[in-house]
Amino acid sequence: MIFTTRFAPSPSGPLHLGHAYSAILAFNVAQKVGGRFLLRIDDLDQSRARAHWEQQIYDDLNWLGVTWSDPVHRQSEHKDYYDEGLERLRSQGLTYECRCNRRDIEAAASAPQEGVPKFGPDGRLYPGTCRDLRLPPSANTCTRLNMSLACTTALPAQFDETSTNLFGCHKLVAKDLISSVGDVVLERRNMAAAFHLAVVLDDTLSDVTHVIRGADLFDATKIHVLLQSLLNLKSPVYHHHRLIRDDTGKRLAKRDDARAISTFRNDGASPGDIRAMVGL
Ligand code: GLU
Repeated sequence: MIFTTRFAPSPSGPLHLGHAYSAILAFNVAQKVGGRFLLRIDDLDQSRARAHWEQQIYDDLNWLGVTWSDPVHRQSEHKDYYDEGLERLRSQGLTYECRCNRRDIEAAASAPQEGVPKFGPDGRLYPGTCRDLRLPPSANTCTRLNMSLACTTALPAQFDETSTNLFGCHKLVAKDLISSVGDVVLERRNMAAAFHLAVVLDDTLSDVTHVIRGADLFDATKIHVLLQSLLNLKSPVYHHHRLIRDDTGKRLAKRDDARAISTFRNDGASPGDIRAMVGL
């Protein structure tokens, strides 16, 4: 199988130095080994995706000298494929419908008996209010993964702390997923699949062999490997790279226009200057 990696930005703001680092790194590796570099547009959240930001992604990458193999994969065009993946998890009894909104979750999670509120890669851990209610799917519900069931299903019955399968030491990873990640959302209300399910299916569809992504997604990767195991998909090799930070040590965010590639470009910087700024 040919080495294939990808860069997957969301078109919800300008690309900044952190994106430049991620894209150039993955592109360079693909070039070096004679592999493929793909571009995916992560536009699941249509309320935040904008055509002009998508156009700017193409412009910025072209300017940086990062080129990709066609076609560009746009998540908004693959709803049926995600629905099918979700159905496979649903038919294994690993999902449930949840009608809680953010305020319900906040209230349930802050109840005194819940102890110290916990946060995972998707924000506040879901306290499980709807887990056993068997609600039917509707426009007012989202679909969650029952993490505890999912971990038990993905792991062989005789697993122990020394056997290795899921992430090297899978019993510990399963414990961590249950206690620190919880019942993640697989499909949002009135939307196609949520991030975790979509990216796992996307990487399979595009035959991605190596995912090169920021260290901020390290915990999310555990969810992705679990989903691959449940869906019987091959896991790519994951590499988590360092994050580019601002002068105060904070990770760059989409709204950080001051470090947008386009700002540097308009100020007369060259692609080589950008590479130097991110240490490449
Ligand atoms: N779209 C994601 C982001 O911008 C990256 C997705 C991935 O690496 O799978 O953080």
